[in-house]
Amino acid sequence: MSAPPPIVWRFAGCEVHEYPDRDANGYLETRWPDGAMCPATRDHTMSNVDYAAHLGYRSVRDALREHELAHTFVSEKLGFPYSPTLRAVADGFGPGSAPYEAQLWEEAVVLEFQRFMQTGDIGPALSPWAWKADAWAAEFRRRFCGSPPALSLAA
Ligand SMILES: [Zn+2]
Repeated sequence: MSAPPPIVWRFAGCEVHEYPDRDANGYLETRWPDGAMCPATRDHTMSNVDYAAHLGYRSVRDALREHELAHTFVSEKLGFPYSPTLRAVADGFGPGSAPYEAQLWEEAVVLEFQRFMQTGDIGPALSPWAWKADAWAAEFRRRFCGSPPALSLAA
């Protein structure tokens, strides 16, 4: 039996391929035109049930899928062509990768954006963009929390 095709979420500089049924918590890949790929792995922060609940999610699965999409979404909003952190993972943290502290900063902004979408709370890393957070959340929900793009075309 062949695996079903992924749901493809397109961004300006990359795509996120979502495989909802490949793993109990879902599985996503961020892919670049040059072939680089970052998998959303099980040992990611989002695999922690208590942490997902802290962010306001009812399941690790929902927290993980929105986390991977939010990395690229938030990075674009901050002016990057894609997520420097996911690209660093895809490149094996090789030369030219975002430095560790920049990865931690991006992680904090992304996690606080997720928590804002679920709870309305603004954390310290997100606070410089607090005035944009409602608009970002509305766009994120419109683009990624409704029907998958392939299905909406077929409907
Ligand atoms: Zn992350």
